[in-house]
Amino acid sequence: MITRFREYLKFLDKELYKMFDAQKPFIKCKEGCAYCCKDGEYPVSELEYVNMMFYYNELEDSLKDRVNENIKNLLEKSRGKMYECPFLIDNKCSIYPARAIICRTFGLISYDDKGKKRIPFCVDLDLNYSVVYDKNTHMITRSAEDGTEPVSYNIDRKFLRSNKIEKEFNIFFGEDKPLVEWLEEEFT
Ligand code: SF4
Repeated sequence: MITRFREYLKFLDKELYKMFDAQKPFIKCKEGCAYCCKDGEYPVSELEYVNMMFYYNELEDSLKDRVNENIKNLLEKSRGKMYECPFLIDNKCSIYPARAIICRTFGLISYDDKGKKRIPFCVDLDLNYSVVYDKNTHMITRSAEDGTEPVSYNIDRKFLRSNKIEKEFNIFFGEDKPLVEWLEEEFT
């Protein structure tokens, strides 16, 4: 099943690459920028979590020790719903090839199954889409200088892990929980 899930991730990455590329004039994602990993809930399905832990188990000892320290701190602290992801080390994802679906989609404008548009929060940090964003109205108001339109994509998790995808790739996502709850089960 993991092999088939990785095939799906390859397919998804190709599709996302095209979307990010089409939105290039608005995107400021770059290595070392990790705002999206610092204050989130990170909903993850069981299948995604298993894939993440396969990769984590292969990390070299010194890196794994640092992740373990982060996990320990996260689980010990009284925490709210939002927290920094424990896999983030020196502002880089330590399990990047196995990161969750939500990690792959962050940064684009999306819409959910009800058609509700979501602009990435980093717009308020003068990052993605900020060149066409009006902070007073909280709306995207313009096109890029080269005429590129800001586009919203159907990259909601519900869609990306739907029954249709399960059937097509012969996979089963299983239960969905915030990352911290999976870690709690495994590490306490
Ligand atoms: S798994 Fe990696 S990409 Fe996803 S939130 Fe954690 S550090 Fe960031």
